[in-house]
Amino acid sequence: MSTKITNGMNGHTNGHLTNGYSNGHCNGVKINGNVPENDNQFLDELYDMMIKEGFEKSRDRNTKVVEFKHPKELKQLIDLEVNKPTDDDRLLNICKDIIKYSVRTGHPRFFNQLFGGLDQYSLGGAWLTETLNTSQYTYEVSPVFTLMEKAILTKMMGYAGFKDGDAIFCPGGSIANMYALNVARYKFFPDVKRLGMQALPKLCILTSEKCHYSIKKAASVLGIGMDNVIPVKADEFGKLIPAEVEANILRLQSEGRRPYLVNVTAGTTVLGAYDPIEPIADICQKYGLWLHVDGAWGGGALISRKTRHLLKGIERADSLTWNPHKMMGAPLQAAAFMTKHKDLLAPCHSANASYLFQQDKFYDVSYDTGDKSIQCGRKVDVLKLWMMWKSRGDLGFEKDIDNLFDCARYLAQKVRDTDGFRLVLENVAPKIKERMTMNGSMLVGYQPDGDRVNFFRMIISNLEITHEDMDFVVNEIDRLGRDL
Ligand SMILES: *Cc1c(COP(=O)(O)O)cnc(C)c1O
Repeated sequence: MSTKITNGMNGHTNGHLTNGYSNGHCNGVKINGNVPENDNQFLDELYDMMIKEGFEKSRDRNTKVVEFKHPKELKQLIDLEVNKPTDDDRLLNICKDIIKYSVRTGHPRFFNQLFGGLDQYSLGGAWLTETLNTSQYTYEVSPVFTLMEKAILTKMMGYAGFKDGDAIFCPGGSIANMYALNVARYKFFPDVKRLGMQALPKLCILTSEKCHYSIKKAASVLGIGMDNVIPVKADEFGKLIPAEVEANILRLQSEGRRPYLVNVTAGTTVLGAYDPIEPIADICQKYGLWLHVDGAWGGGALISRKTRHLLKGIERADSLTWNPHKMMGAPLQAAAFMTKHKDLLAPCHSANASYLFQQDKFYDVSYDTGDKSIQCGRKVDVLKLWMMWKSRGDLGFEKDIDNLFDCARYLAQKVRDTDGFRLVLENVAPKIKERMTMNGSMLVGYQPDGDRVNFFRMIISNLEITHEDMDFVVNEIDRLGRDL
């Protein structure tokens, strides 16, 4: 049987596009509806390996977190050349090594970065995303994900109190912060889009000295310049001091500069401090500045009734960065930029590409979200988060967040109660870090901060960790550092 797709012209058959199927064969490949036997064998085996060696083992506390090799050794262990074809068996063996020598970030003893953990629903969402491999720019190629992104972002904006705002998933919190600097600048100076910085006064922004470095990067990329990111003093707990913000605004204005945005951090990268939003919102309101809240790390606290007070006043902010791939345990990457200003993202970023965003399409083109983004193709980030959320519900997610804060409090008390954990020598943390890495028993980052010597930056973001894991951390640091 042959199937034809007509081009609809005059009913002429010579104008038809055929799919080339006839007698169930096409170019000698059988297409009788059955996939040839074993055609998916590679994927079958890889899938099995990912479940057993990757997923299951990473959740097993007896597995090493890392099998560390120095670059020179690792180059010998994994055949990186791609010149010649490789058969499936060999490829599968290499895949096993890829798993073996990669860091198990889903492991309960991985505390190294502000992300971690992996449950079956989020992983399933990530796999499904890859299987469907599409781009988020138009409803045409992303019907389900367009609606899903809207639903999740609307929900997240609800937690922030942005009732009638707009939002978009970005490739990371750094880019989301750059969006904030850009849309705020566009809001005050729409000419910047065509004329560039030459047409503008001497812009600057204010941010805590403890803020994430992405603020500086964004200022650099946007032509504002890193030197025009004005650091403002934080208190001993790492929180921005509101009076210092106001003093700096007045000073900058008297110098003929134009401060236009204040960035506050909800969960700083090192100390986890939450800057006070409310008093800084008052200041921004008084002087007409945009208030951005960088909640890349700490935004997840909004999910719980017990912790959302940490972002008190968030509904008064103009914009928010929130990375569910951090405190909420979604797989990398899931980062949202949201603003309470409804009609800003699209005008600020649009280029109206006529080949992609035709206005005479047959469906409601307001669902084409692509021109809100600075990208063209945009990865689907929403499904893995949606899947986690759908499986847990609001209350389940709230419980997870409460567990993280509970574990953090427990650890803090444990450290206070444990001998030898008061003050450390400057060179102790790097040495213990080396030992834990070579051992593979856990991974915790360290660093100095201001007057503080090198200390371990314990990150509690894996949703499944327990008090026992906190005990392990203290005991293991003690064990590894005994002789130092
Ligand atoms: C992690 C972090 C960022 C950057 O987010 P990425 O997704 O890593 O780009 C920005 N701000 C804060 C406070 C962060 O903790």
